[in-house]
Amino acid sequence: MFESLSDRLEITFKKLKGQGKLSEQNIKDALREVRIALLEADVNLNVTKAFIRRVQEKAIGVEVLKSLTPGQQVIKIVHDELVAVMGAANESLNLANQPPVVVMMAGLQGSGKTTSTAKLAKRLIDKERKKCLLASLDVYRPAAMKQLQTVGEQVGATVLPTEPTENPREIAKRALEEAKKGGFDVLFLDTAGRLHIDEALMSELADVAALVNPHEILFVADAMTGQDAVSVAKNFDDRLNITGVLLSKTDGDARGGAALSIREVTGKPIKFLGTGEKLDGLEPFHPDRVASRILG
Ligand code: GDP
Repeated sequence: MFESLSDRLEITFKKLKGQGKLSEQNIKDALREVRIALLEADVNLNVTKAFIRRVQEKAIGVEVLKSLTPGQQVIKIVHDELVAVMGAANESLNLANQPPVVVMMAGLQGSGKTTSTAKLAKRLIDKERKKCLLASLDVYRPAAMKQLQTVGEQVGATVLPTEPTENPREIAKRALEEAKKGGFDVLFLDTAGRLHIDEALMSELADVAALVNPHEILFVADAMTGQDAVSVAKNFDDRLNITGVLLSKTDGDARGGAALSIREVTGKPIKFLGTGEKLDGLEPFHPDRVASRILG
């Protein structure tokens, strides 16, 4: 992710770095290129505009720090603004609740929900020795239930046996009872997805959420779908009040627009990045590290 954005910004900033003194025109020219680079990386138009405006306000007429050249100073402002847009600090799963902590996974079909559920459970089991119960509410696709069973067992989680004949609310309720009875720390509910947002899906998810009151509702967004991921995230958030986003498939050649727009558009943090098909392909999202990677 971000390769082409990073390359473009490098060229822009190389020109700036070479200048001993910066004029307002130098900065304006550089920011015009930053704007094009962001738009080409599929960053939301309003997010791009607001970003450039903030950088411009800070960069023009800024008191130059003695330790930095003017060019470096502008780059630092862009860096800091990239971090701010993505959410400043890493936010992890909120586990500070009476167990079982309930984490509901939501998103479109194929976004990576089932894989990401197993990845998160693996992380909690391996790093924090949490006891995890997983349950699939995808009664429309028996293959999805089987898939959760397979990947869940691979990471050492317990997977609740479920049947396509049950309804999702019944499964969710039963899963919560099992999690309490079995002394589980975390319950993951892997929900059904559709190819497109539809009313039936949304009301089913809202019903399940109302029934079990999840501590976390993570929206799984496919980074490869760029701005679509952002608008779908907004839709899910409006309906479900998500608590965060897991951005999957960032190991592909996604341009990065979703990573840079989601926080600003939804107000919700990206908490994790999916970085591969394997079940250890998951990283906490650190905006500062991502900003540094973009700026090389
Ligand atoms: P679901 O329908 O939302 O449950 O999606 P799945 O978990 O079945 O994932 C759909 C496809 O995306 C599968 O082929 C996964 O292996 C793949 N996938 C999921 N996360 C990642 C990721 O972070 N990187 C890559 N490269 N592939 C992923």
